[in-house]
Amino acid sequence: MALHIIDEANRCLNCKRPLCCKGCPVHTSIPQVIQKFKQRDLVAAGQMLFDNNPMSVICSYVCNYSQQCEGYCIRGKKGTSIHFSAIEQYVSDTYLDRFIRDVKPTYNGKVVAVVGSGPAGLTVAIQLARVGCDVTIFEQKMDIGGVLRYGIPEFRLPHQLLARYRKALDALGVHVRPNTTIGGALKLDGLLRDGYDAVFVGTGAWRARTLGIKGQARGNVYFGIDYLINPSVCNLGSDVAIIGVGNVAMDVARTAIRNGSRHVTLYSNWGGTSANTDEVELAQLDGAKIIYWKSIESIDDGGPVFRNSILDDEGQVVGLSDETEHVNCDSVIICVSQVPKDKLLLTTKGLAATDRGTLVVDENCMCTVPGVFAAGDVVSGPKTVVHAVVGAKHAVAGMMDYLGLQRADDEVE
Ligand code: FAD
Repeated sequence: MALHIIDEANRCLNCKRPLCCKGCPVHTSIPQVIQKFKQRDLVAAGQMLFDNNPMSVICSYVCNYSQQCEGYCIRGKKGTSIHFSAIEQYVSDTYLDRFIRDVKPTYNGKVVAVVGSGPAGLTVAIQLARVGCDVTIFEQKMDIGGVLRYGIPEFRLPHQLLARYRKALDALGVHVRPNTTIGGALKLDGLLRDGYDAVFVGTGAWRARTLGIKGQARGNVYFGIDYLINPSVCNLGSDVAIIGVGNVAMDVARTAIRNGSRHVTLYSNWGGTSANTDEVELAQLDGAKIIYWKSIESIDDGGPVFRNSILDDEGQVVGLSDETEHVNCDSVIICVSQVPKDKLLLTTKGLAATDRGTLVVDENCMCTVPGVFAAGDVVSGPKTVVHAVVGAKHAVAGMMDYLGLQRADDEVE
């Protein structure tokens, strides 16, 4: 790998107006990082990445590079883009240990609560702890990471990275309270009363969207987001039907195959998929099959019941077939997106949500309760890790202003 990434770095044209940075949602200074890397200054390169995006090493595994930085690389116009994700992975992975070893906690007198430890919560906790805030993370699950641990399968994102993030939090003096749901015994408004100067909410989108059809509550039917939390406890059997063809559905299919299911079929209600091309290809390579133009009507004893789409000459759907088609399988997994859970919302007076269940925030990421900020999927609805980081950085900027802390522009752009 080392040789490959050196070759890749040497191919960088160090463009004056780098399109790769434009294509990156968090505007990573890609050419500068590559220059530092070429000068063998790994610490400077790693620091640049981490300061701009504390989730840099995670992004190097899960970002949709071909549509973002690499997709914009000028080299890609006539040949092959620079494989920046490989460089980022090497540099950020190396730097994370260095950060854990060298960082020392500092205190500025401000006390902050972070609810949720997904990429949004982790970004806020790390950036605010670095400027001296006393940060406590409240996490509903038994370990940190959010979707990074309880959604994205380990074969795509090694959990050892999250163990190292936990060490980074410890080194920064961040307190972590696992198995603690805000909206349960502890309430959001209670945190403010308890002496926290500001609260960040990064609780993600964990309620499975349902299909609104008969049969969803059967014993052999699961929601993808629930299944991925702990796949080994679900006995799916050999034949699995997956309803939906997005990224979550691809992760579910690949996980089911790895857990022993032999015939895994994904059903799309149109002529394509909504997942990244790479994810679709990998799911197919793993052995999953995709069937198009199937509209689910119900789930009965034996499995899902579909109607076929009727298409006109131009391939547009003009209706559904009169006949139904029954598919036999051992279990059905529904993967048709997620929305935020509303427990926290229901228990907090004055916290406004949109019709979609996402939190209402102003331009500084402050919610309708003063001192409470939010970002990530709980605000945007299901998006991506790098978008959660971008939102979290805006929230950090808003929180620092609210707390009267001076911010360096390069730290919280
Ligand atoms: P989350 O990661 O959802 O974290 C929220 C955290 O808050 C969780 O730890 C949760 O337990 C905790 N929490 C919730 N409610 C409470 C409460 N009341 N009290 C305390 N804690 C609470 N994006 C990519 O960029 N690339 C990918 O390859 C990719 N794959 C994905 C695969 C799957 C299966 C899924 C579901 C999503 C994927 N995404 C991917 C999307 C990405 O993971 C999310 O957009 C991102 O994790 C959102 O970050 P977040 O911090 O807002 O929320």
